[in-house]
Amino acid sequence: MRLRHIQGAEENIASSPYVVQKPEQNKGAWDKLFGNSNPIHIEVGMGKGRFIMELAAQNPDINYIGIERYSSVLLRALQKRQGLELDNIYFMCIDAKTLGEIFAPGAVDRIYLNFSDPWPKDRHAKRRLTSPEFMAVYDLVLAADGTVEFKTDNRGLFEYSLESIPSAGWNLDTQTFDLRHSPMAEGNVMTEYEMKFSAEGNPIHKLVASRVPGVSQP
Ligand code: SAM
Repeated sequence: MRLRHIQGAEENIASSPYVVQKPEQNKGAWDKLFGNSNPIHIEVGMGKGRFIMELAAQNPDINYIGIERYSSVLLRALQKRQGLELDNIYFMCIDAKTLGEIFAPGAVDRIYLNFSDPWPKDRHAKRRLTSPEFMAVYDLVLAADGTVEFKTDNRGLFEYSLESIPSAGWNLDTQTFDLRHSPMAEGNVMTEYEMKFSAEGNPIHKLVASRVPGVSQP
């Protein structure tokens, strides 16, 4: 998602108390920002942020950080956040490839990837958020028993991910090509893209990956 540049987006983001302005300064000290040492869950490429804000409202004992690289998109999330009384969620305007500069090893307990850009051309494969290159970034920051949860309606990207994630040394714990009709649907929180594609009747695919051996589906 890349919205038309919105005048004033950078200024709004730079002055927002909900955006972490110099996130690398929190490396190893995120508990100070949140005021507690609760687990940290992040969403990479949150777009307008419906999913992560809903999770933050449902789970006050988890700290959430929404990551979006485009200021014009992050601004939409900030507009939605106004009026929500949540003290367990912040946003960052960064490219996810820098996560290792922002979080100490093992500092993140869960990573959500939702409806990530498919980058269908082979020459752009490294930009896919489930590429071995990005899995190596997640490996730097995710706790030993942490998980990556990925949803998409894009069959090509999903099939690619079913190969790229194990090839990066991760286990596929659970997976479905049809989330709505799977036990994995329990407690599912929809993203903006998911609402749109579900309404069009597209099946939603989901996988959960970890580095814990022995929990993969038969
Ligand atoms: N997750 C949202 C949803 O499901 O509605 C938005 C999906 S949108 C297709 C993907 C978003 O990921 C875009 O807003 C894009 O800017 C963001 N994104 C893609 N690559 C990124 C990266 N390397 N770092 C941070 N954000 C990224």
